[in-house]
Amino acid sequence: MSSASSRSGEVERENAFARDRTAKGCLSKTIHVPARLSHEVSQHDDEQLIRRALNLARSAGRRGEVPVGAVAVRDGAVIAAAGNAMERRGDATAHAEMLVLRSAARRVGGWRLDGVAVYATLEPCPMCAGAMVQARIARCVYGARDPKKGADGSVYDVLRHPRNNHRIDVTADVLATACGALLTEFFAARR
Ligand SMILES: [Zn+2]
Repeated sequence: MSSASSRSGEVERENAFARDRTAKGCLSKTIHVPARLSHEVSQHDDEQLIRRALNLARSAGRRGEVPVGAVAVRDGAVIAAAGNAMERRGDATAHAEMLVLRSAARRVGGWRLDGVAVYATLEPCPMCAGAMVQARIARCVYGARDPKKGADGSVYDVLRHPRNNHRIDVTADVLATACGALLTEFFAARR
């Protein structure tokens, strides 16, 4: 597959950078993970993980938050999970995806999230998509598209912008109907 071969080229470059930083002593030992997903992820796995994100989104909705959820996965294990917490935290950056990126960075021991996949119920906004690129995540899987501020092409083009210095493997529209319905119901109930 062409995406796989381009990704392995990316991996080689990334590893070259990683060696560079290791030599300077700036890279934590705990970051030595493969710069790609270590196993093939099936469509079934993707749906299972979006379902987990959906449960987090529902919990967030019950707390009065816009119902969006996210999980971060590495080597087949969930390493971070969060629902949107903007209201509770009084923080405009407390989107579910930002929270799992922060939590995953603590787990990994550094900002660089090589081999990490983020699953979100909604197409990331420009802030979250930008943070995913900055964190060098390997994959982003999301449910519903966001026609108001989606940054995977719906409104902005951040997640897969050709000028990005890092390529993210993106899978869209996983359980999109269920993810979108949750948001539609939430906003309908508030009207
Ligand atoms: Zn966001």
